[in-house]
Amino acid sequence: MKSILLGAGAFMLAASMTAAPSFAQERGFVGISMPTQSSARWISDGNSMVELFDQAGYATDLQYAEDNIPNQLAQIENMIVRGVDVLVIAAIDGTTLSAALEEAAANGISVIAYDRLIRGSENVDYYATFDNFQVGVQQAQSLLDGLGIPGNSGPFNLEVFGGSPDDNNAYFFYNGAMSVLQPHIDAGTLVIQSGQTGMDTVGTLRWSGSVAQARMDNLLSAHYTEERVDAVLSPYDGLSIGIISSLRGVGYGSDDLPMPIISGQDAEVPSVKAILAGDQYSTIFKDTRELARVTVGMVSALLAGGEPEINDTDTYDNGVKVVPSYLLHPVLVTADNWEDVLLGSGYYTRDQIVD
Ligand code: BGC
Repeated sequence: MKSILLGAGAFMLAASMTAAPSFAQERGFVGISMPTQSSARWISDGNSMVELFDQAGYATDLQYAEDNIPNQLAQIENMIVRGVDVLVIAAIDGTTLSAALEEAAANGISVIAYDRLIRGSENVDYYATFDNFQVGVQQAQSLLDGLGIPGNSGPFNLEVFGGSPDDNNAYFFYNGAMSVLQPHIDAGTLVIQSGQTGMDTVGTLRWSGSVAQARMDNLLSAHYTEERVDAVLSPYDGLSIGIISSLRGVGYGSDDLPMPIISGQDAEVPSVKAILAGDQYSTIFKDTRELARVTVGMVSALLAGGEPEINDTDTYDNGVKVVPSYLLHPVLVTADNWEDVLLGSGYYTRDQIVD
């Protein structure tokens, strides 16, 4: 018993050490709940927000839940107990936070959904994100560009992957992409040999690269022993990495069997390198510094008793209400423009990408 208690004490001490908020400033206290550190984009989101909030005179408590829903709930509840004024949340599962948000509302705490919509709750005040439908449009358009459609009538074999079904964004990416691809599937220029479409079939729980890799392995062995796959819609760089490993495992990536045209998202360093190596065709750059800037602006306006700037009041219905949103523009990145977009914006330095 004693050792259990000691163990718990040590855990709490460790937790409070890593969670130490900065109380240096007094303008307000902001709880920032991010989904995971397993993807570089969320680390960049968190760091940018802490830096900007700090400059604007706010204290912050930044927590990562490592894709564990009970963890995220506990972290948010802890922030409420510690008296934050605002919660900024990128949800792991956009439907699991209702009870915690009710508690937040009861304590007068405003809630901003960050990048991912929080569903099924009236206690979401604003949403800061990118134009997620447009992300899917750009991913699909890049597949057409890579295949040379129109011009080249194929037919080309395509397989499609979706993001995590508990993330509202995944449906926007998928629907945006299919709005571009479906006419070419209907015309017979693109053929899905597996016949697998629809988010309930092609979704990838928790955006897991190994789940995508396993599905690609199955697709290749079931449908591509005679045929070759020419393009893969992948909604996220982490999935593209798994898909590329699977393809490489059966010989793609050689002169005889080139890699298919593969999309991605987030412009993560290993995937930008994969684009330069010719393994991945495109990714989508979403400037997390800009998203952080918009969010800090929203919080400052809210806490000053004003109205945050929004530019969309139609698109994001969370099942209970349409959440007023600010949408930023995603940018398609290929081997042709990566330097302009990623180095030109100062997001990366050349030596991070080119060894
Ligand atoms: C984000 C994407 C990201 C994905 C996986 C989505 O909600 O909008 O930028 O690729 O989650 O982390």
